[in-house]
Amino acid sequence: MLHRFREYTKNEAFVERINEALFLLKCPECGKEHGSASDPDFLPELIWCWGTPAHEDWKAYKKERGLTNEDRAKILGSTADSVKSMTQPDKELPKWAVSMPYEWKR
Ligand SMILES: [Zn+2]
Repeated sequence: MLHRFREYTKNEAFVERINEALFLLKCPECGKEHGSASDPDFLPELIWCWGTPAHEDWKAYKKERGLTNEDRAKILGSTADSVKSMTQPDKELPKWAVSMPYEWKR
């Protein structure tokens, strides 16, 4: 799931202690992992997060923008069938498909 692009300091982020020797730094909004260390002092001071793009974000973006596969095919120099095949829910979203909802959520 995507969320607005956010910057967090280590103090704002969520630090989870897994065991004696492992701490994880997570986004407080989506829980995405942004680092691990044996000591919280070694975790990154600053993280940037906008979640993990998923097919539902891609779908919501397409719907709100009213973009068809034909429109995207023109941008990519491809065909609508090819765009449809590349964005099937059982496949990982291609990088170009990830970049579009990213701009939308900024
Ligand atoms: Zn996040």
